[in-house]
Amino acid sequence: MFLVSIKQDNCTGCGSCVDPCPAKILEMVDDKAEITGDAADCMGCETCVEICPSGCFTIMEL
Ligand code: SF4
Ligand code: SF4
Repeated sequence: MFLVSIKQDNCTGCGSCVDPCPAKILEMVDDKAEITGDAADCMGCETCVEICPSGCFTIMEL
């Protein structure tokens, strides 16, 4: 299982992370990326980590 966290203070609201997430658990809420789906669905693929220009994502394997 993977734990995804988003440093929202660094989020510029670019939206680039939302569509590429294969688990479809990310959405924009008030111009910040948020985990609105089931966080347990995160596959740990790190696509969001690679895409985010602001380094907002951290993935930890539990
Ligand atoms: S690691 Fe992959 S599945 Fe998990 S939130 Fe990021 S893009 Fe989505
Ligand atoms: S890619 Fe990064 S900066 Fe852009 S919306 Fe997602 S978390 Fe925010």
